[in-house]
Amino acid sequence: MAIIDTHSHLFFASFDDDRDQVISAAQAQGVEQIWMAGVARESWQTQASLAANDSRLRNAYGLHPYFIEQHQQSDVDALAQWLADHDAIAVGEIGLDATCAHFDKQRSLFIEQLKLAKKLQLPVILHHRKTLDEMIPLLKQYGPEQGGIIHAFSGSAQQLQHYTALNYLIGVGGVITYSRAQKTRAAIANASLDCLLLETDSPDMPIAGYQGQRNEPKRIKQVLDALVELRPEAAAEVEQQLFQTSHQFLLRAKARNQ
Ligand SMILES: [Zn+2]
Repeated sequence: MAIIDTHSHLFFASFDDDRDQVISAAQAQGVEQIWMAGVARESWQTQASLAANDSRLRNAYGLHPYFIEQHQQSDVDALAQWLADHDAIAVGEIGLDATCAHFDKQRSLFIEQLKLAKKLQLPVILHHRKTLDEMIPLLKQYGPEQGGIIHAFSGSAQQLQHYTALNYLIGVGGVITYSRAQKTRAAIANASLDCLLLETDSPDMPIAGYQGQRNEPKRIKQVLDALVELRPEAAAEVEQQLFQTSHQFLLRAKARNQ
């Protein structure tokens, strides 16, 4: 059995000293692939170089709202050109974050990147923070048919259903390892198993018991264990379905990459 970490930032400098060991340690835990979500124009080349040398890595490229201050209008044009020249599993990580500044600029860059994904027939990988409801009408109006992944889902069962109805998969990460996350845990416990994916968001979002430490793809095993505890299905069935759903997600970008 194998696991796919569907969301990481393994290209961050915090992995520069031991990236190969980090990937090997994840593989020893059954991790077959690690997907990397882009954050800013300056990171795309690093991501591409890493994946070119390691078939276990896959890339999405985008402009993340955390870095809104540094993004320029010209970066969206550069993203369009970059995606024309490089393989990508999705446009991402993109979205809206109510705790970050420049919300109007976030919104306009988000809309432009949704339009780009639609034009290129690529799914999107979405970041949200206190913006789950706000993003829905934008996805309906501008989002790609290929849907995407709502990364690090944290919300109610009703919000989860709004996303799955729009062809979005639910990224299940470290949040479910915290017992205080009752609403999210209940939503994921009751969701359809085939709309769930596993992720770490390494080096961010440490799981319970590892606060203050760098998160790593190998910890996805603990996320899986926490998910299995929440779900009615047997562990093997959960693992099998998540692996299959991850592979099926890659096909959403396939029409365009061929
Ligand atoms: Zn991320």
